[in-house]
Amino acid sequence: MPGFEIFGDEERSQVNDVLETGVLFRYGFDGARNGHWKARDFETELARRLGVAHAHLCASGTAALSTAMAACGIGAGDEVIVPPFTFVATIESVLMAGAVPVFAEIDDTLCLSPEGIEAAVTPATRAVIPVHMCGSMARIDEIKALCDRKGLILLEDACQSVGASYRGKALGSFGKAGCFSFDPVKTITCGEGGAVVTDDSDVYVAADAYADHGHDHIGSDRGAEDHLIIGGNYRISELNAAVGLAQLRKLDWILDTQRRNKTAIKTAMQAIDGIAFRQLPDPDGDSATFLTFFMPDLQRTRAAVKALGEVGVDGCFHWFDNNWHYIRKWDHFHTLRASARLAVQTLPNCPDFGSIALPASDALMERAISMQIKLGWTGAQLQQRIDATVSALKGVV
Ligand SMILES: *Cc1c(COP(=O)(O)O)cnc(C)c1O
Repeated sequence: MPGFEIFGDEERSQVNDVLETGVLFRYGFDGARNGHWKARDFETELARRLGVAHAHLCASGTAALSTAMAACGIGAGDEVIVPPFTFVATIESVLMAGAVPVFAEIDDTLCLSPEGIEAAVTPATRAVIPVHMCGSMARIDEIKALCDRKGLILLEDACQSVGASYRGKALGSFGKAGCFSFDPVKTITCGEGGAVVTDDSDVYVAADAYADHGHDHIGSDRGAEDHLIIGGNYRISELNAAVGLAQLRKLDWILDTQRRNKTAIKTAMQAIDGIAFRQLPDPDGDSATFLTFFMPDLQRTRAAVKALGEVGVDGCFHWFDNNWHYIRKWDHFHTLRASARLAVQTLPNCPDFGSIALPASDALMERAISMQIKLGWTGAQLQQRIDATVSALKGVV
């Protein structure tokens, strides 16, 4: 996820356009802004790139998730099915909406499985949030069919997967809404930023309003605008949008580079007995931000991470032992340690989040290692990395 790796003349030039006008706000100041509408242009280009009708930028991926949830009408007391392997922001946004996260099992795609979702559905289930982790996809067509059959809202967390697709259709475009993050470690970055995308014009209007205190954004006199709904401030600034606009225009080059680098490493690793790879429902649609593989057991997974570190192969993540991406280590969440009482805690049937059992997910996550794929490797660095990886892993399996 290399957004942080690239900041060049294109980004500087877009930012300078904004600095020269001094209009850092995405709305209004029509005369002073000298024709620069960075947030708006980014939204137009992103929607076109993803093949969706609408995109609305937000201050972060987390803000985008909260905005999408509100715009889809998900709120107090609703159950929302989520995976245990995600960045904790997915869960935070469900809690902030006053809704109840319900965890379902993942499969060897490392995303929610249709079977896991089906087993977690109750009469209170309102929505499902599959998270397309590490640049690749859930079995999204089956999940969409399941949601349609059960009358559930499908909201995709594609924060880590901009540019990825399933059978030619962009991840994030399958559900009622999709969310993206452009934080500094994502595929492209705004510094901080995110987006909600949708084909549903009602969801778009609600998202556009919710993220800006309910403003209807009709006409050019902000003071005279109506407030459609109660919202908040989840807006992106023009400066951040300007960076993202330049980065979006590099997305195809980023994807090509990642895919080439990943293929070289994976091809070499395929010769090692005892290593299996993450299931990719459509390998051609993988954005290739990570190469994820499975070791035979937990002990050898920990040994492999150590061995890779010792030979200088950086950027390897054993999510099972890391405290941000897998439920096992979310101590603050297990006890709902919050600064103020959460809506879920006022429910008569608030779940005990410290005792959630997900044996199938544990069995996968304890053996999974993800290796970050970078853009800046030279041919020699890549080869050195491949050699070091193969010899380190052969010493462990
Ligand atoms: C990064 C991320 C988010 C949150 O995005 P921010 O822009 O950092 O707020 C949400 N979900 C997933 C899966 C992420 O990786």
